[in-house]
Amino acid sequence: MRAEGLTVVGGEVLDEGLQVPDHRAVVSLRRMNAVLDINLGRKTVRVQAGAKLSEIDRRLGAHGLGLPIVGDHRDITAGGFASVGGVSSASHRHGLFIDQVVDLEYVDPDGRIGTCGRDHHTERFHRILGAGGRAGIITALTLDTVEIDKDHTWLTTDAHRFLDFDSFVEHAQSEISRPGNAALQVGRWVDTQPLKVARPVGTGHVQLGTVRFGQWSSLYPTAPTRSLKARRDVGTRARKGLGAIASHASGRAGMPVRNAAAGALMFAPKVLTLRDAEYLADTVISSSERGPAYRVGIFAPMSTYSSVFYRLHDLFSGHRERTGCFTVISAMTYGVRSDYLRAEAGARNLPHEDHGLITFTCRLRPSALPSELLRDIMSSIDDICASERALRYESAQ
Ligand SMILES: Cc1cc2nc3c(=O)[nH]c(=O)nc-3n(C[C@H](O)[C@H](O)[C@H](O)COP(=O)(O)OP(=O)(O)OC[C@H]3O[C@@H](n4cnc5c(N)ncnc54)[C@H](O)[C@@H]3O)c2cc1C
Repeated sequence: MRAEGLTVVGGEVLDEGLQVPDHRAVVSLRRMNAVLDINLGRKTVRVQAGAKLSEIDRRLGAHGLGLPIVGDHRDITAGGFASVGGVSSASHRHGLFIDQVVDLEYVDPDGRIGTCGRDHHTERFHRILGAGGRAGIITALTLDTVEIDKDHTWLTTDAHRFLDFDSFVEHAQSEISRPGNAALQVGRWVDTQPLKVARPVGTGHVQLGTVRFGQWSSLYPTAPTRSLKARRDVGTRARKGLGAIASHASGRAGMPVRNAAAGALMFAPKVLTLRDAEYLADTVISSSERGPAYRVGIFAPMSTYSSVFYRLHDLFSGHRERTGCFTVISAMTYGVRSDYLRAEAGARNLPHEDHGLITFTCRLRPSALPSELLRDIMSSIDDICASERALRYESAQ
């Protein structure tokens, strides 16, 4: 929440490298982290807002329950996730995290404590969820859970690789529209700028060419053999090692290692448990995504999904070509079937459709991205959303 000089954070007071220069006070919910009640009959869990999703899920696991939507980062709190919306590669089945919120307790900007939920004060409930803390501080939530054993639910990856963007987008659209019984799904596209290396002798650069490739992964339930389980163990150890090395590899020299860690995500193991799959990115990518980047997430209705994808891609690669402001451009996408999002779209007279989430991450050269250019890019994104009837995902990620 950012009002009257107040900043609220879900977990740690400050992330590494982040400053809160203009705010007089920071409210941290780090110590309000209790799992208050697990209701086995209703299959719900009551938590304080600072409880980490990974910890709630671990506690639920002992009762054969789990959270259907968790972020791919272990430190995200229930209050923080509810304040942005919360998506995951299970969103094609379960929607957003806020679709799972039954009710919540909050403190409003005037300091009043209140409660709201699906069945009472619904307007306020809708206003606080996904509001980024602007409508009040969430202090406790009741969440729906599902019956699942995440450590013994095995998934097998059906992966398709693409060297051209058109085929990648076409495949993603078809998988999002018809996911079958996939438990998880995700598409990733990576497009580097032409790689340049300094000539050993003389001036100038040698251009090595552009790397552009994509992968779509659908993960289906399976019963793994003993040898596949063993392969999974080796793969898990290798990715953890790569992630640990990448987190210490800084600067230009560390770039190849960080890129290798990011690449490991594209080549996810053939079999893994649901829990491993949910935190796959946390093992390797958070450490490898260091450095300045511009990120944007858009919920595109399925009728305009491919058009939104192309227009965002052209926007970022066009600016990269003209100004050199971006280096590596990557995109991630999956389906989102959310009651909350459909209601939100309905309230804005937008179509009542399922959505595909498209997020772009553009590594940037700050010196080549003056604030006027950034403003131009943001306003072009708003134009794309307005004309394609898409919604922005205001995640703080
Ligand atoms: C490495 C990484 C991975 C991520 N992965 C995902 C992902 O897979 N899916 C996804 O949807 N998002 C993802 N995110 C974004 C993340 O969900 C949001 O940043 C979320 O708000 C983080 O929650 P937090 O508990 O860390 O909150 P903080 O980072 O502390 O706060 C983030 C925002 O939430 C507000 N806030 C926090 N707690 C409360 C509260 N109790 N009441 C009201 N407002 C509050 C803060 O004011 C701030 O605006 C990721 C972020 C990171 C850094």
